[in-house]
Amino acid sequence: MEETIRLATKLIHHPGCYCEHTGAVNFPIYEVSTFKQDGVGRNRGYDYSRTRNPTRDVLENYIASLESGRFGFAFSSGMAAISACLMLLRAGDHIIATEGLYGGTYRVLTQVFRNFDVSWSFVDTGDLEAVMAAFKENTRAILLETPSNPLMRASDMRSISNVARRRKALVMVDNTFMSPWLQRPLGLGADVVIHSATKFLSGHSDVIAGLVVTDDETLASRLRCIQNAVGAIPSPFDCWVLMRGMKTLGVRLSYAQASAQKIAEWLSSRPEVDQVLYPGLHTLHGWEIHQNQADGPGAILSFRLHKDVCAETLLSSVSIWTLAVSLGAVESIITLPSKMTHLSYPREALKRLGIEDNLVRLSVGIEDIGDLIADLEMALKRATSAE
Ligand code: PLP
Repeated sequence: MEETIRLATKLIHHPGCYCEHTGAVNFPIYEVSTFKQDGVGRNRGYDYSRTRNPTRDVLENYIASLESGRFGFAFSSGMAAISACLMLLRAGDHIIATEGLYGGTYRVLTQVFRNFDVSWSFVDTGDLEAVMAAFKENTRAILLETPSNPLMRASDMRSISNVARRRKALVMVDNTFMSPWLQRPLGLGADVVIHSATKFLSGHSDVIAGLVVTDDETLASRLRCIQNAVGAIPSPFDCWVLMRGMKTLGVRLSYAQASAQKIAEWLSSRPEVDQVLYPGLHTLHGWEIHQNQADGPGAILSFRLHKDVCAETLLSSVSIWTLAVSLGAVESIITLPSKMTHLSYPREALKRLGIEDNLVRLSVGIEDIGDLIADLEMALKRATSAE
């Protein structure tokens, strides 16, 4: 409870959130690429915006304070943030990653990092023994998505971090689904926390950005080097837009979460639905693990349709739900992972994982709950009669 109060206040009153010079209650946008130097090699802390920018500094300190780490880094997308973290690996290293994780992460590992001689094992990281069995001599990192996308499978961050520490492997957690409002992996033993800030942190479907936080000084200096060397940084304007969205993270997500719980319960009672995957339902495999490490179930859920219901008809019949990729926004979003977010996976892999064409993912927004349910009910009926 105390942590929630602290976080709620931190969302509004974070370090550097207003301008010391003028008292402006929002930090200004330093839309600038370079800085006039006082002499050769003498500057006022800034020389070039790829390296450092005042608006980005505020954002980086903001996310660091929310995740309770000392060092924050902003990137031009969630994938740029994940890639920067994967660049902490060296040729010949092996990584264990949550099976079924976001399709873009699967793609960057299997299509980009493979060319740099990084190898991987996709594992059900909800099963600690499977994680231990996947360790190899050259395993240097574990990349977790918890709960995972879209199966909502939880991985025990404390236990995995304990095992990884003994084996000298880094634990990196993609915290996009929960956001720091509901889950803070560094406090559970993770070394690095990653966000697609495009999602809940921004909250308004208006910016693509990524964020990384660590409390480890050595990792921070390597990430700073990668950020500057590779240069996948967000514009000062995007940093500002993101911070504007982040202020309301708590109220948006708490509201959306309450609606998600009701929708999950409602869907569970529908004849058109075979299974609902949501961390707010005791029936979810790994429910206790999630309970022990997060402050709430979140606003994302997936469900499997009965064989007589056509998913594509359902998705094209809704009118309030937005048919789109992405999640975590004020508008409620409906997605078919097998044909949208997870398209980069081979079909056989999706089948084995249970990410099939009858699995629908919902990101619950902040519209009226009665309207959201009525829209889904109408679409479910239409999708059933279409068969
Ligand atoms: N991680 C997760 C869990 C995601 O869902 C996504 C995007 O959907 C990403 C990372 C990638 O983020 P971005 O689209 O900002 O590059």
